[in-house]
Amino acid sequence: MILPGEYRIEIIPLETPKLQIHCHRCKKSAAFYCSEKFRVNAQQKHIDVWLIYKCGQCDNTWNYPILSRIHTHALDKNLHRKFMNNDRETAWRYAFQIDQLRKVCHEVDTDISYTLKIEAVDRKEESCKIFLFSPYLFDLRLDKVLRQILGISRSKLEHMADCNGILTNPPVRLNSKLKEDLWITVLPLE
Ligand SMILES: [Zn+2]
Repeated sequence: MILPGEYRIEIIPLETPKLQIHCHRCKKSAAFYCSEKFRVNAQQKHIDVWLIYKCGQCDNTWNYPILSRIHTHALDKNLHRKFMNNDRETAWRYAFQIDQLRKVCHEVDTDISYTLKIEAVDRKEESCKIFLFSPYLFDLRLDKVLRQILGISRSKLEHMADCNGILTNPPVRLNSKLKEDLWITVLPLE
């Protein structure tokens, strides 16, 4: 359990979400992983960009459409360069477009491994204040990550919440999925 004080805690995913897609080569639904590579097609004045996924069983590829028939002048030069260089951060940004991806595949597996980077900002606080943030969102539930941060059981966390011992700003339910950066205050139990 972390002690009273103020902390910045970053949720760092260690992988990108896998997609369930029908693989034509395997002839069944299979888990495709993000290759972190783009396919860029330029035809006359228009550009198409896809993010390439690969079947974990047979290496068959599936392309996630990112930009379709965009005029060359309309595409930001810096972003174009990132596509051409297979910039990893850019690939991850698209690989975490979970709502978009859900529209084009059977299922997005958001049960991915992650690590927490905990930085103590101030130890003089009497309560425990946490700024919780992540560069990528992936359906992680607040109660799951809070149990992990505080090192407590589900029932203890529920008890603390029932006693108004856990406040969030903006206010969200403990069982909700993380959608934005949060300030969390954990008050000591009486
Ligand atoms: Zn396959």
